Amino acid sequence: ARIPLVMGNWKLNGSKAFCDSLISELKTALVDVKGCNVAIAPPVMYLAQAENLLTDSKIALGAQNVDVNVQGAFTGDISPVMLKEFGAKYIIIGHSERRTYHKESNEFIAKKFQLLKDAGLTPVLCIGETEAENEAGKTEEVCARQIDAVINTLGVEAFNNAVIAYEPIWAIGTGKSATPAQAQAVHAFIRQHIAKKSSTVAEQVIIQYGGSVNDANAAELFTQPDIDGALVGGASLKAAAFATIVKAA
Ligand code: 13P
Repeated sequence: ARIPLVMGNWKLNGSKAFCDSLISELKTALVDVKGCNVAIAPPVMYLAQAENLLTDSKIALGAQNVDVNVQGAFTGDISPVMLKEFGAKYIIIGHSERRTYHKESNEFIAKKFQLLKDAGLTPVLCIGETEAENEAGKTEEVCARQIDAVINTLGVEAFNNAVIAYEPIWAIGTGKSATPAQAQAVHAFIRQHIAKKSSTVAEQVIIQYGGSVNDANAAELFTQPDIDGALVGGASLKAAAFATIVKAA
């Protein structure tokens, strides 16, 4: 059976003091967590601090992005190897905020996916449609294209030990989560799409839901057979809410 993954994406939030207090609260709240993998992705500035604070904890560390080069004259960039050196394990790529604000293409994101695999890190590939695409009935087409960008360059086996986060853009930060049935339908489609290439890979790949997950709606989302945890934004900034979501998985 798949072990769900609940991951907190802090986005551009926090400070040294915030990092200290939230992580210590999470360690206490999640000390006896079972049957669920947990990770947090603070801003990369705080990775060293978070790594220290998470020593001897079951909470894994992640990052919100990575660049497409490993070393050299690439001003401002951060490599997968650097993230790994600071203990990051799960790396978010292709988040809709990066696709939108930084014009990241499917091909560019596939390159990041490859570098993460090369470094022995776990990519968390975000996919999902806009509201307009949803209303036009294009959800499956968009998700398939975003997944195929990886499959076509790296092969389906790349999704072994990888995570997909289905995050419908209209549900992110809006308070308007997809319903459990709506999300389940897309998650099942994603799994079937991968199964066309490999049923073994499809069976084991973790497919998280993301978009306005909170302590009140998580449990019902997690009853769905193809929803393997969540990628949590706003609610991951509050220890009690995040712990409730983890315990619901
Ligand atoms: P919210 O949980 O704030 O809607 O954000 C979801 C998200 O984008 C996680 O990556």
